Amino acid sequence: MSAPAQVVVVGSYNHDHVWQVDRFCRPGETRRAHGFVAGPGGKGFNQAVACVRQGVATTFVGAIGDDPLGTTARALADAEGLHGRWQIRDDAPTGAAGILVDAAGQNQIVVALGANERLDPAFVRAQRGAFADARVLLVQLENNLDAVDAALDLAGVAGATCVLNPAPVHADLAADTLRRCDLVTPNETELALLLARFAGTEVDADALATLPDAELHALARRLPVPCVVITLGRHGCFVSHAEDGDRLGDAVARYRLPAEAVRAIDTTAAGDAFSGALAAALVRLAGRPLIEAVRHANRAAALSTERVGAARAMPHWEEVRARFP
Ligand code: ATP
Repeated sequence: MSAPAQVVVVGSYNHDHVWQVDRFCRPGETRRAHGFVAGPGGKGFNQAVACVRQGVATTFVGAIGDDPLGTTARALADAEGLHGRWQIRDDAPTGAAGILVDAAGQNQIVVALGANERLDPAFVRAQRGAFADARVLLVQLENNLDAVDAALDLAGVAGATCVLNPAPVHADLAADTLRRCDLVTPNETELALLLARFAGTEVDADALATLPDAELHALARRLPVPCVVITLGRHGCFVSHAEDGDRLGDAVARYRLPAEAVRAIDTTAAGDAFSGALAAALVRLAGRPLIEAVRHANRAAALSTERVGAARAMPHWEEVRARFP
C-alpha cells in the first residue's frame, strides 16, 4: 500500500513532440528537422513529476483520451510513482503539443488541450478521498476553470494550502478563484496579465525583473492573494506577501532570490520545476520559514534548465541538495 498523498496536483497532461530545426518554417514551407523527441509534458503533469521527485507522495488528477497517448500517460505516471487518478474521455483526445526549437534555442509551440479542457468538475469532486492527508493542492490553468474551482473547494474543506501557477492566464479567470489561493507563482508575463485584469494596472512585463523591490512588492500587493512568488527566469524570483496575511512563515514581507549559477541549455518547463518543487518543499520543510522552501524551488528550477525536456528534466531532492549543500 503506497503512502497517502501529501500533495495533490489537479492539472493537464500533454504529450510533447519536439522537433529541432535550424530555423522556423515560413507559411507553406516544409523543412527537415535534425532531431525529434517525444515525451511527457503539460503543466500539471510536469509539476506533479517535479513534486514527486522531491520525495513527497503526490497524486495527479487529470483527463486523457481513450487512445494510445493516454495509455502512455498512465504508464509514465506509474513509472514516476505518481498516484494517477485519470478521467478517461471518449469525446476528446489526449492533449498533445508540437514544439519547434530553433538553433538559437527559441521555441514555437502549438498545443491541442483535448481532454484537459473536458476534465469534469464532478470527477474532481469525486476525488475527495485523495485530499484526506493533503497538505498542499497545486493547480494551473490548462484545464477548464470549473475543474480548478472544484479542486480549490476540496482543498478548502481539507485545510490544504492552495498554490496556483496561473499559467496560461485564462480570459475568464475570476477574482474569486484567486482569492481562494494562498500563494500564486506567476512569471513576468503572467503577472502583467493578472495586474491588467484584476488591478486595472498596465505594466511592461519585460521591465518587471529589474524594478526596485519596493515597486514590485507594491504591484504584487494589488492582487487578491496573500502570497505572490514571481518567477523571473534568469533573474531568479521575488516573494511578496501581505503584512497581515503571511500564514506561510516569512519574517519579512518581501525579498528576492537571485538565480543559481548553472549551465542552462533548455529553460522549457523551468516554471513547472519551480512550482512543483515549491509544493513539495512546503511539505518537507513545514514549520520552517517560507524562504527555505522558495530557495529549494529556485535551486530545483535552475537544475532543470541543465537538461533538455519537460517532465524528464525535473531533478530529484537529493540532486538539489547535493549540488547546493
Ligand atoms: P516555463 O513556462 O518554461 O515553465 P516560466 O517562464 O514559467 O517557464 P521562468 O520564470 O522562466 O519560468 O523560470 C522559472 C524559474 O526557473 C526561475 O524563477 C529560476 O528559479 C529558474 N531559472 C530559469 N532560467 C534560469 C537560468 N537561466 N538560470 C538559473 N535559473 C533559472
